[in-house]
Amino acid sequence: MSKLEDIVSLCKRRGFIFPGSDIYGGMAGTWDFGPLGTTLKRKIMDEWWRYFVESREDMYGVDAAIIMNPRTWVASGHLATFADPLVECKECKSRFRADKIASGITESVTTEEFLDTHTKCPVCGKENWGPIRKFNMMFTTHVGAVLPDDDAETANKNLTYLRPETAQGIFTNYKNIVDTIYPDLPFGLAQQGKAFRNEISPRDYILRDRECSQMEIEYFVAPNAWEDGFETMRALQHDFLENVMHLPADKLHEYEVPAEDRAHYSKRTIDFMFDYPNGEEELMGLAYRTDFDLQNIARESGKSMDYRDKVTNEVFVPHVIEPSIGVERLMLAVLSMAYTEDEVNGEKRIVLKLPENLAPYRFCVSPLLKNKPELVEKARGVYQMLREKYVNVTWDDSGNIGKRYRKQDEIGTPKCIVIDFDTLEDDTVTIRDRDTTEQVRVKISEL
Ligand SMILES: [Zn+2]
Repeated sequence: MSKLEDIVSLCKRRGFIFPGSDIYGGMAGTWDFGPLGTTLKRKIMDEWWRYFVESREDMYGVDAAIIMNPRTWVASGHLATFADPLVECKECKSRFRADKIASGITESVTTEEFLDTHTKCPVCGKENWGPIRKFNMMFTTHVGAVLPDDDAETANKNLTYLRPETAQGIFTNYKNIVDTIYPDLPFGLAQQGKAFRNEISPRDYILRDRECSQMEIEYFVAPNAWEDGFETMRALQHDFLENVMHLPADKLHEYEVPAEDRAHYSKRTIDFMFDYPNGEEELMGLAYRTDFDLQNIARESGKSMDYRDKVTNEVFVPHVIEPSIGVERLMLAVLSMAYTEDEVNGEKRIVLKLPENLAPYRFCVSPLLKNKPELVEKARGVYQMLREKYVNVTWDDSGNIGKRYRKQDEIGTPKCIVIDFDTLEDDTVTIRDRDTTEQVRVKISEL
């Protein structure tokens, strides 16, 4: 098994991540988070929010609706350009993203260019392709009552989309925020939430799913200050990824995206790549979006997006720096660094070396024996005390101590605390360390 398969298997076995709609045979490109995965995901999102919003004076939160007026996607350009090159195999009818199955071509590939690559169908091995067609990746839905016998015009009037990015929920609220709290420039608006992309072929576990959670900031700057803003955001991303998420710097690589590959709105983009178990993949993006979005919204809405500088009285439309990261991508990076196999007393051990600030549980408390009421009672007291102090504490009295350690190692609990007969005498407990497996005796009062 590859390391990624090992992680997928552990995550399912221990209740971190399940295939979406598992009980009905699954739903491609969707994943559900179990109790431990939910806690890990929430901790990642909370750390991000604390770091980028709560601890800063220049950042504010936004929580916009997922379903937006469809004019949003006309103005943003998504309706016209948020499309992938789809190609169909005429032999077996399988559909693929052309730029993902052939090398040396980009998203803007033409049918001729694709045919010249002489790519064979990954499913049936034949080479008999239809033309390249543009497939818009936005999910469509209808808002309000639409009946099966409605004509196309009526149905279309109600047509809208699930948001393909959280960013537009921020841009469309820019004017509300400037009008109400009038923040000093530069300032950032941050949002966490779901985004939807109808990927032609979702793959790579939670890396390319159809429904994902994004964490995005639109950082508004004066037009001539965009380079400073870009460097500020760039440094913050590194600090957050390396010192809060504890991803090693040598696994992170910056890739300057060339003009022809950049999204339609960007004048400069750096992709932050990460060495995942199956190879280098994009972890997050940092884009200079210019005033593209605000100007488009001004045009589509007829409302001014001007900002008046409080010192110089100069009036302009701010430019924007956007760091954008997918929670699931970040979670897989964290999991792939944490997943470790080693040997303890000649036995293979799987251990999730999650950083303490991200581990679902910080402590596990257990009585040495579950059939000794005096031990159980003492252990419950320690458990309650630690829960009040640290919140994320778990209780485990199943099986023998060895089995409990193995389980806690697999879910990444940094410390296991065991109450034994000595505890009843001298109020000390054993603390066992997840990474070194070393055990020390500590007074309960010092926990
Ligand atoms: Zn085929």
